Amino acid sequence: MKKCKYCGAELHDQSSFCPYCFRSINERLTLKVPRRLRIRYLKIGVVSALLICLLICIYFISAPNEYDSGTNG
Ligand SMILES: [Zn+2]
Repeated sequence: MKKCKYCGAELHDQSSFCPYCFRSINERLTLKVPRRLRIRYLKIGVVSALLICLLICIYFISAPNEYDSGTNG
């Protein structure tokens, strides 16, 4: 048996996760996103947002301004 270093709960030797404080015990498993990837994701997000804006603009420009109501012709 080993103890959780965060809350002191008794855990199994094989456990790599504390069910009491919901923390991972293995320090190696800390997930850190590298800066490069962050910037990459940021760029992808900005580009996709711009594309969506562009599509909305195109839709409104190409949509007809006249609104027919109730006339069957
Ligand atoms: Zn714990």
